[in-house]
Amino acid sequence: MDLHLAPTHLEFRDQLRAWLADNMRRPWREELRDPATTEDGLMEFRRAWQKKLYEAGYLGMDWPREWGGRGAGEVEKSIFEEEMARAGAPPILNTLGIGLLGPALIHHGSEEQRRRFIPPMLSGDEIWCQGFSEPGSGSDLASLRTSARLDGDHFVLNGQKIWTTFGPWADWIFVLARTDSKDRYGGISFILCKLDTPGVTVRPLRQITGESEFGEVFFEDARVPRAQLVGQIGEGWRIAMTVLAYERGAMSLAASVRYGRDLDCLAAACKEYGRTDAAVREKLARLLVENEVMRANGIRTLASFAEGKTPGPESSIEKIYWSEFDKRFRDAALDILGPGGQLLRTSPDARPDVDWAREFLWSRAGTIYSGSSEIQRNIIAKRVLNLPQDAR
Ligand SMILES: Cc1cc2nc3c(=O)[nH]c(=O)nc-3n(C[C@H](O)[C@H](O)[C@H](O)COP(=O)(O)OP(=O)(O)OC[C@H]3O[C@@H](n4cnc5c(N)ncnc54)[C@H](O)[C@@H]3O)c2cc1C
Repeated sequence: MDLHLAPTHLEFRDQLRAWLADNMRRPWREELRDPATTEDGLMEFRRAWQKKLYEAGYLGMDWPREWGGRGAGEVEKSIFEEEMARAGAPPILNTLGIGLLGPALIHHGSEEQRRRFIPPMLSGDEIWCQGFSEPGSGSDLASLRTSARLDGDHFVLNGQKIWTTFGPWADWIFVLARTDSKDRYGGISFILCKLDTPGVTVRPLRQITGESEFGEVFFEDARVPRAQLVGQIGEGWRIAMTVLAYERGAMSLAASVRYGRDLDCLAAACKEYGRTDAAVREKLARLLVENEVMRANGIRTLASFAEGKTPGPESSIEKIYWSEFDKRFRDAALDILGPGGQLLRTSPDARPDVDWAREFLWSRAGTIYSGSSEIQRNIIAKRVLNLPQDAR
């Protein structure tokens, strides 16, 4: 396993650093703290930022050039993520399109679908959301009930999706729907649906952070052209598994950069408040070591990508590690900072470095979305360690 960057990679990194220095207005954290900021405004800001990155050739890093990608590799993609984290760059808006649907179309879509959907997905002209979960079908995704009945050259969709991140901002949704009620896994299809299709309603859901990044999506006899089916009828489960492997894939390197920066801020706050006792020092040291473990794991995944391997069930190890670490980190931070750590960023007395209260609230979500920790443990036990299925 070679952990050193090649000269071409170093050159790429330096160009990207220079581009970020020239093109980033201010760190995302400052964007968020601006009292003039609204949720709508932030979404539009993220869309514009995405377009800028796209035009500079930094999105779709490892995707083929013919569909608007850069045609580079996983190593460049990882350098890109790390540098974005290092610069405190704003996140792009179409994370679900680029992170999930893009790989699904590249692996399973038709040539026509790739040409139609990938360029506006990368540029941010079309924002996507993911319609997998339903009330009662989250971990047991195959129990989903949203139906897609074929009627001539259209599917007729009926049912409800929930926890749809970016639902209120998106233009399109990729939906798992049941085309055959008898075949549990083989009866699911993967369908693309425009959110302004008659019969589709999106309702925002208010979160504990006060934001409405999620929505619920209702389908009532919504007619979707058959050409918007990805793969074959009944292939949706297999396609969804590709998508989920990408969702759980290599995020650790960039995440460890972000945690490292927040950890530095926490250590600085401890000095400022005179909280340098042994108990606090031990907590900080533990977080530092855990973050290093995460970084090492990220490098391991990157090395396997560099050898041409695609994400497999081992990506569950990364998912469980960063999400559980995030909770421990944010708990410890609030514990150390005391009541002041609970102030919202809009409070004039909130610390200017990190939005500790929001990070704490958000850390609750990481062990649930894209497969809860219990489900990841099951995957690791069964598919990585080959342990027998537990008795039910
Ligand atoms: C912030 C956030 C964003 C999300 N965004 C999206 C999105 O954009 N699109 C989308 O489709 N979905 C999204 N989701 C939904 C998410 O994927 C589901 O919440 C998740 O899969 C868990 O499903 P559930 O909520 O139905 O919980 P349940 O499946 O009801 O699970 C409840 C509890 O039981 C445990 N459990 C369930 N089955 C087992 C088992 N077999 N063994 C051991 N324990 C088990 C679970 O781990 C959990 O602790 C999002 C969720 C969150 C929190």
